[in-house]
Amino acid sequence: MIFGYYCVHPELVDEIPAVARSRNRLAFFEKANVGAIIDKERSIYNERKAIYSDISCLRASIGKLYEDGQEQCILSNYKVVLDDLGFDPIVAYSGVSDSFDFDKGDYFEPVSRMSDDEVVTFFAYMEKKFDKFHEKYCETIRNDRNLFVSRVIEKIKSGHYPSYVSDRLVRLERTAIEFDDGHRTTLEGISGWYRPQSNLIMLSASGYLDNDSNLLFHECYHVIEGRSITGNGLQRLKSFFDKKYAKTIERINEVFVNYKSSSLLNNDLRLGQKNRCTDQEIVLYILVCGEPEIPVNMLYNAYFSDDMRDVEALADAIKQSFDSDILFQGLGQRICPTAEISFMM
Ligand SMILES: [Zn+2]
Repeated sequence: MIFGYYCVHPELVDEIPAVARSRNRLAFFEKANVGAIIDKERSIYNERKAIYSDISCLRASIGKLYEDGQEQCILSNYKVVLDDLGFDPIVAYSGVSDSFDFDKGDYFEPVSRMSDDEVVTFFAYMEKKFDKFHEKYCETIRNDRNLFVSRVIEKIKSGHYPSYVSDRLVRLERTAIEFDDGHRTTLEGISGWYRPQSNLIMLSASGYLDNDSNLLFHECYHVIEGRSITGNGLQRLKSFFDKKYAKTIERINEVFVNYKSSSLLNNDLRLGQKNRCTDQEIVLYILVCGEPEIPVNMLYNAYFSDDMRDVEALADAIKQSFDSDILFQGLGQRICPTAEISFMM
């Protein structure tokens, strides 16, 4: 099962995240027996289902990709999977394979000449390939996740991480890890993302293979971050500073996750990767360049704790140690937006 726009098979349309969300909302209101809302939710659900089942919408969406010159974003993800598992154009295109240019890898090009049934067959074929890709890397993913867990336990035992972080590892056990077809991940310029509401880590196939275990460690690090009603991890610092620094603070959280997840994977940082080095410098800057210095356990607590008072404690320390305008303006210029840092969310 691949997640992305192109999951159009009529039997699978309910599984597309946008449709599934609507279906879940409808089920919730039906259970609560809220009459007026049920009708509204049912029509939203039916509308979404119709959009995603509609092959003409799919064709238009592919057409738009080409118009915007963005088709390679998704094709590169397809290419990774099909290079890895092999591609049979005659099966994929139901016989319409004569003009397919294998070297070009333009898998969507023949779609415009295919009948609706053939288009569905083509995407069903792709879904099977993504499923196989997932199957093939299942064990690697499981091993990476186990390695992540054992590294976190080491950090807790050595007193680096607060002891309550061990409870978060249960959360990770319940989190599913899937590959999407690249529509969401590559078009939004990210290689992977984590949705706490659905307990799901989503990875692009190309992002996964390009980043070794870094991408998965990054997303797992998000799974164990503290959560409050106002947000997650260090993002929650936004509540204590001027709104204009919200984006910078969100990026600081990403930088922190990049640096810490990478250190965890490499058993404390091996330098040499440009963006990792920048991430490290920025985190260390916040820790050691203020007057007085900010204790590292305060930073960890603000990231991991579910209690906003721990986040507030870090905000107060930052206000004491820095002129926060200068700090956030300076960091904002350095980290927003650089291609090196913005590759994961
Ligand atoms: Zn992230």
